Amino acid sequence: MSQAVAQVQDYMDEKQNVLIATANAEMIMRATHDKELQDILNDAALVVPDGAGTVWAAHHLGHDMPERVAGFDLAQELMRIAPKKKRRVFFFGSAPGVAEKAKAKAEELYPGIEIVGVRNGFFTEKDESEIIAQIKEAKPDLLLAALGVPKQEKWLYKHKEELGVPVSIGVGGTLDVMAG
Ligand code: UDP
Repeated sequence: MSQAVAQVQDYMDEKQNVLIATANAEMIMRATHDKELQDILNDAALVVPDGAGTVWAAHHLGHDMPERVAGFDLAQELMRIAPKKKRRVFFFGSAPGVAEKAKAKAEELYPGIEIVGVRNGFFTEKDESEIIAQIKEAKPDLLLAALGVPKQEKWLYKHKEELGVPVSIGVGGTLDVMAG
């Protein structure tokens, strides 16, 4: 976790618009038959092991994988240090109202945090340009996208350059959990 957090800080400073994926066993199995997802994961700047199954499989294949780095926990760690580092965070995803509640929770848990925008994750293709404009205008350092797997990875990858956000992470049910 500490290595992942440090790496993400570097990516934010470098501003290269990178994608980070949090891979649980379900995502990895899906990537065996979903070529688009497989390519995105192989191209991601960082893929963290989100779950005991991923850590077990890595060990089984002889890789050095010190511990599980769940997407939810990684997001919390990044938000915890965001105020000190003056990182701007955007919440994109989940049902209407959820991201607002998650924002209130983040402000309570991490005083001084700048959640510079929120947008729910239910939209049609015609809404996309407006969503992209909203995110660009907010100028976040970190975009947390909670649209579910593989929608969040595919959406972030497709719009990566246009969005121009230093670090984007697909975080699944994180906003729902934060909203309570
Ligand atoms: N979601 C969304 N837009 C969609 C489909 C789903 O914003 O078109 C949200 C949903 O409300 C939930 C999250 O995506 O907050 C997916 O959570 P889940 O725990 O299912 O994530 P996964 O298991 O796919 O990582």
